[in-house]
Amino acid sequence: MARVHPDIYFFGGGTAEGRADMRDLLGGKGANLAEMASLKLPVPPGFTISTRVCNYFYDHGHKYPKALDTAAAKSVARVEKILGRKFGDAKNPLLVSVRSGARVSMPGMMDTVLNLGLTDETVKGLEAVSGNARFAWDSYRRFCQMYGDVVLKLKPENKNDRDPFEELIERKKIHRGVKEDVELSVDDLRELVSEFRDLIRSRVGRDLPQDPEKQLWEAIGAVFDSWNNDRAIAYRKFNNIPGDWGTAVTVQSMVFGNLGADCATGVAFTRNPSTGARGIYGEFLPNAQGEDVVAGIRTPLQISLAAGREWAERNSVVEAERVARFPTLEESFPLVYKELLKIAQRLEKHFRDMQDMEFTIERGRLFMLQTRTGKRTAEAAVRTAVEMVGERLLDRRAALMRVEPVQLEQLLHPRLDPAAAKEVIARGLPASPGAVSGEVVFSADEATVVQAAGRKVILVRHETSPEDIHGMQVAEGILTARGGMTSHAAVVARGMGKCCVAGCSALEIDYAGGALKVGDRVIRRGEYITLDGSTGEVIAGRVPTVQPEMSDFFVKFMHWADQERKLGVRANADTPSDARLAREYGAEGIGLCRTEHMFFGPDRIDAMREMIMAEDKQQRARALDKIVPMQRADFVGILREMAGLPVTIRLLDPPLHEFLPKEDEEIRKLAENIGTTPERLRQIRDSLEEFNPMLGHRGARLGVSYPEIYRAQARAILEAATALRAEGVRAIPEIMLPLIGERKEFEVLAADIRDVAREVASRDGGKLQYHIGTMIEVPRACIEAGEIAAVADFFSFGTNDLTQMTYGLSRDDSARFLDDYISRGIYKKDPFQELDPEGVGGLMRIAIERGRKAKKNLSIGICGEHGGDPASVKLCHKLGLDYVSCSPFRLPVARLAAAQAAIEGRKSKREFKDV
Ligand code: PEP
Ligand code: MG
Repeated sequence: MARVHPDIYFFGGGTAEGRADMRDLLGGKGANLAEMASLKLPVPPGFTISTRVCNYFYDHGHKYPKALDTAAAKSVARVEKILGRKFGDAKNPLLVSVRSGARVSMPGMMDTVLNLGLTDETVKGLEAVSGNARFAWDSYRRFCQMYGDVVLKLKPENKNDRDPFEELIERKKIHRGVKEDVELSVDDLRELVSEFRDLIRSRVGRDLPQDPEKQLWEAIGAVFDSWNNDRAIAYRKFNNIPGDWGTAVTVQSMVFGNLGADCATGVAFTRNPSTGARGIYGEFLPNAQGEDVVAGIRTPLQISLAAGREWAERNSVVEAERVARFPTLEESFPLVYKELLKIAQRLEKHFRDMQDMEFTIERGRLFMLQTRTGKRTAEAAVRTAVEMVGERLLDRRAALMRVEPVQLEQLLHPRLDPAAAKEVIARGLPASPGAVSGEVVFSADEATVVQAAGRKVILVRHETSPEDIHGMQVAEGILTARGGMTSHAAVVARGMGKCCVAGCSALEIDYAGGALKVGDRVIRRGEYITLDGSTGEVIAGRVPTVQPEMSDFFVKFMHWADQERKLGVRANADTPSDARLAREYGAEGIGLCRTEHMFFGPDRIDAMREMIMAEDKQQRARALDKIVPMQRADFVGILREMAGLPVTIRLLDPPLHEFLPKEDEEIRKLAENIGTTPERLRQIRDSLEEFNPMLGHRGARLGVSYPEIYRAQARAILEAATALRAEGVRAIPEIMLPLIGERKEFEVLAADIRDVAREVASRDGGKLQYHIGTMIEVPRACIEAGEIAAVADFFSFGTNDLTQMTYGLSRDDSARFLDDYISRGIYKKDPFQELDPEGVGGLMRIAIERGRKAKKNLSIGICGEHGGDPASVKLCHKLGLDYVSCSPFRLPVARLAAAQAAIEGRKSKREFKDV
């Protein structure tokens, strides 16, 4: 049959004008209904009005394109012909649903009208053909309510009011002395319809239209309108969905799951969406309409017998009771169950992905109302991808593309039990994943005391500093009100594999009063909170968690990823135990060992302070004598764990302000250790205070001012390597200088290191194997990369600082206003989280080109926090880096992102050009 209009797509009666790949025009729902109809599956006939009409509607003062109305009427007539019913017919009326559907699913954000076509006349017809007066009047009651709400916008007058229609139902039930809606009689429902219409007349000033044609066009307009309701706009903003995509509208003939005991409605997945286990999985309600399943008033029943038995066991229901009260679809509708199973398998094969389907059973006949790609947990995503390769639904590359890399991080940390209830009180940045509960404490010391008493704590601070490390170490998780994704709390917590929610600006923290406040909600010291570091949620009380496991599916999947990727993966690790973990998670070396992090412990920070605050060479030498043996032991441990793999050790880069003592007690203790007075120490501290510490006396500048510091560190590294080599362990140290911006600066410091190396070699004998390279984290270093590469063995991009300096945006202070930049559409993403491809990426490209031109085999990696972010990893692949380095827990994320980048690159073959 010829198309009636370029923007109307008919489906039903075994054919369809649309296809699954037309989701941009038909929305996900419309496109897949069309596809199912083409597959000759039982889909109630209908038609979809394209998203183009939505845009036209907005651009032309809520008008429709020419001839859309007559084309829609023709389409309705086509549905009438297939079904043998007529729209508005008093004897055998056709009823339709009017549904929204965007190209990506926006669950519950837009509106729908069901049972459309009911009037005072047609309800009688429905009563006659169904032989069920209760059903007919209940449908009319539902229609008045939905139409009143969605089309006539009859909503509660203010936030605390109840829905006005629900209030009338409630009153009716009280009046009749009944509890449930189903206990209301036909007469009650008739009265409710008339009360609803009175309400509409009095509040809206007109009656519910009695002309089905008018109902249809008003409902279509309301659904287009709902594209721009507040909920939908907020959802789009949060999910980066462009406002000009628009929604399609699908008008589809109604089927009823609430006509009696031989009817039902439900939702089914082709596999278990939380574990990925094969086999149909889902829930249904007998004698119900779809909205009843969503409303959650009745307990839904399981679809398969196996799932029903599992459910019963979990809920301590004995088999006899289960059979009597909670029969599965497999038992109560065996034929439909078989048909549904067949359809599920067919759809999964057709779409080559797990499907999430909505269905209705009307008088024993199955109808499919929707199918879409099923949302799933990380565990289910990995298992499904691996098993689909075995089932020959996918090849390995397609399977690798199926899993979102960030999801993998979930698999290595405990996560909140998805079945548990939770009261979210605030949301911060998801700085380091995991899910933890504990008592609120407000200082590191308090954390250690409470933890020593055997209790779990969450450390809550405005922000953290190295003084808080002992508290961070014993805490289950860390919550800060300030700071971004590369703030101290975020970086350190990630390194420790500890859950952290950072920059939660809604928190008001009162250290003195021992309380945190979010709006009116107050949580006091000792009360429990729960953090979800994957979503940034802060939750009141305790929420149960589930433990991670590295399944065989995961191991196999990661092996496939490793075979595909071109980028190497290393870890940022500062301790032997981190290094061991890193190896377990697939690290091919260490890309960054931050030596200042080795001084975070309470027993070590004093030695570090002593060194920073030394007044002369002698004092500094004394402090270094304490530091060097500690470092040497650490290096031995790390190099041993990483035997045979490169270990990049960065010489000290302490932003001084993070290490200076602040509290009187700390100053007093330190003065005593050094043998000076607190007053003198305070003077020194004040003289070291900087206005702009991130651009101050840190990194290589420290090495230039105090050569003995870097010399001592180099000695510790080289002695550790020599000792291990003597034992037969292959230690491969790479010494890295931070914050270099000038060739000469590198040359001077490298000469010091080589000098030390000669001393160590001549004393211990043998030949030392080591490299000296540099961080590239100052914009000048990118521009001067050719000069620097001429003298350096390797480059490693420090994109935390490079981003900070490229944007002139403080990595510690920007969280509080970055949100404004993102919500106003100036920045797409937080540049500290996802590498800025143009600015920072542009500088990186310059550095790579110039660096490699000067030295063809220059090894180049990245060790900023971006090394574990999938989009940034993909950029690094395109830029041609040798490796990315990230915290151990993000290694699987980086491995998969690198594999996906290689697969995508193979497709586009444009590698470098479009960066
Ligand atoms: C960086 O700047 O990207 C980096 C890795 O160094 P840090 O975060 O220690 O400054
Ligand atoms: Mg840096």
